[in-house]
Amino acid sequence: MPLIIVRNDITHMQVDAIVNAANPSLLGGGGVDGAIHRAAGPGLLAECRTLGGCRVGEAKLTGGYNLPSRYVIHTVGPVWQGGSRGEAQALAACYRNALQLAIARGFETVAFPLISAGVYGYPRAEAFQVATGTIQAFLQQQELHVYLVLFDRDSFVIGAQRYRDIAAYIDDCYAGAHSDPRAQQRRRAALLECAPAESAPLCAPSAASFPAAAAEPPAAAYPGLRAALRRLDESFTQMLLRKIDESGMTDAQCYKRANISRKLFSKIRSDPHYRPSKPTALAFAIALQLPLEETRSLLAKAGFALSHASVADIIVEYFISHGNYDILQINEALFAFDQSLLGC
Ligand code: ADP
Repeated sequence: MPLIIVRNDITHMQVDAIVNAANPSLLGGGGVDGAIHRAAGPGLLAECRTLGGCRVGEAKLTGGYNLPSRYVIHTVGPVWQGGSRGEAQALAACYRNALQLAIARGFETVAFPLISAGVYGYPRAEAFQVATGTIQAFLQQQELHVYLVLFDRDSFVIGAQRYRDIAAYIDDCYAGAHSDPRAQQRRRAALLECAPAESAPLCAPSAASFPAAAAEPPAAAYPGLRAALRRLDESFTQMLLRKIDESGMTDAQCYKRANISRKLFSKIRSDPHYRPSKPTALAFAIALQLPLEETRSLLAKAGFALSHASVADIIVEYFISHGNYDILQINEALFAFDQSLLGC
């Protein structure tokens, strides 16, 4: 774990290996292949000459030469011929074989381009589905950081209809957050008018405002209350671990669903006062399928809130309110709207 979608030039990726969408000769070509050979320098072509080519779906390894990545995994994607000539299986084999090679060599980070989606003509949305589906299935079994590097700015990753739905939802939320209905303006004006010149801080009620019986903790009278009060003091880590236990998931199931690495999860688990980033906290809320209110509670434990002034928050809210807790789909939408992704 995890899969991270980024927009970048793959020749800039500092990873153990980048994957090249090569042609069967392995002797260089256009598109991403040409860019990789240009950036790596002539040493790459010299080594490729020794490999005897590569069949569709296979993967072969070379050094990275002048690239920031240490290695290049060359694979040959299928040419699109309408979809009924085994293209999807061949494309999936490219990803699987490249990933297996990476694991066999002990790599920790690998970056893929969208294989076959250029000159080879594979429809981009479908190529993307094969890529993410195959990588995700692989990551259920193996620990690896996989980057899917997209070169172009496009809404294809989530499909035009969903893109429009989310855009409309963002518009609505923004309007809600920024409009100031006249009734509210009047109420606020009235409050300001009658406020004393020096008022006591709103958050510090005086002792007199509590009934006398408050000296005796009322919790004893209400069996569930003690547990609820204890939860007020729960840290993020404690709430997270409790929620995982309540969900019946194992820790591994939870962090994998959250697109979080085992390393980061171990860090969180071993530190009761760990302060996660907001994307990490949100990723766990999604993995645990928390409804909006509980998502807010978990975020609050880490010092964050869901805000309608943030596009990323609105997108996450859109998915939660539609009961869709698929982190990959959420990340695809965040990516399409140029927002930071959850998890990682
Ligand atoms: P194929 O022949 O397998 O279709 P292409 O190189 O033509 O390979 O395109 C594969 C994908 O790589 C396309 O989506 C293209 O936009 C993308 N691409 C091209 N150059 C780069 C680059 N420098 N970094 C990342 N992706 C790239």
